[in-house]
Amino acid sequence: MLSALLSSEQTETLRRLVTHAQHVVTVCHTNPDGDAMGSSAAFMLLMRRMEKQVTAILPNRFPDFLRRVPVSAEMLRADRQGKKIDEALAQADLIVMLDFNTQSRMGDALAEKVMATKAAKVMIDHHISPDIPCDVVISHPDMCSTCEVLLRVMLDMGWAEGLTPEEATALYTGLMTDTGNFSYASNRPEIFEAVSILLQTGIDKDRIYRDVFFTHTEGRFRLLGYLLYVKMEVMKEYHAALMTLTNEEWKRFQTRNGATEGFVNMPLEIEGMRLSIFLREDTETKGLIKVSTRSVDDFPCNEFCAEFFNGGGHKNAAGGSLRMSMEEAVEVVHRAVKKYEEKLK
Ligand code: 5GP
Ligand code: MN
Repeated sequence: MLSALLSSEQTETLRRLVTHAQHVVTVCHTNPDGDAMGSSAAFMLLMRRMEKQVTAILPNRFPDFLRRVPVSAEMLRADRQGKKIDEALAQADLIVMLDFNTQSRMGDALAEKVMATKAAKVMIDHHISPDIPCDVVISHPDMCSTCEVLLRVMLDMGWAEGLTPEEATALYTGLMTDTGNFSYASNRPEIFEAVSILLQTGIDKDRIYRDVFFTHTEGRFRLLGYLLYVKMEVMKEYHAALMTLTNEEWKRFQTRNGATEGFVNMPLEIEGMRLSIFLREDTETKGLIKVSTRSVDDFPCNEFCAEFFNGGGHKNAAGGSLRMSMEEAVEVVHRAVKKYEEKLK
């Protein structure tokens, strides 16, 4: 049996806030991933089950491979639907922040709007060092995903009674994607108890896997081949690999932001590799380079990204961004790897 996650004070406050809320808004981080989308969808469905008005806000576009996440088509994009978002925020009496720990992860413009509302605020997340002022902060960096935290919250609150297959599908998506289909950050037995609870609603987890991972375009596949064959730089002496992707290359393969999900993990399959770094020009924001890093064992990607790439994240998966040319960014990577030489050996 899964033990209680929430303190009695958290349970009480959360119950009071949700009971009195009529208009609920959820927000997740920019470049939403499977966990951000899954937790947003699950919370949206839960609120509907409780007969609340609910609006899910995404800071920007979600990648195509997440189009089968329940209710994803009903979510609003802050970078496109500003007016609707202003309306939703004006009406909101409760805002639930999902899968991020700091305001900047919403994007500055949206963060300003969200923080300016008088609505009560709840954070449900699994990143270290939560620093957003909220009425309830439910932060569990030990957990594999926000969807795992959210299911535990639902269990504690009694909201998992009546858990629907649609809600379970959304939650399963986050557990599955944030663990690379249970291949990292997934050794805690409780994760599989959570999965078991989700499966009991009758969901087809094999189908969810195919819906997310087997729906790619030909362009993505050819781009992967090109990156691995032509672009991957293996820094053998540092047990590290680097891949880069420019706007010209995105276009050549008819792809855009989101289409390279999972690529950064692949160089770690080379024996002895401890760190993989992926730099890509952002297809929606000119002059921005997104950085993704992945590691094995105890190499601290979050510290590495905080020090060199204006970012952070988890020990084995972190990211950040740079505003400079790709050539300059590659130099930063070389300097960074050198500085972390000891930890890479
Ligand atoms: P990804 O490489 O998949 O974009 O991100 C992996 C993880 O790194 C995310 O779950 C998030 O925790 C963290 N991350 C990614 N980008 C940023 C960023 O720009 N800033 C911070 N603080 N964390 C990031
Ligand atoms: Mn997550």
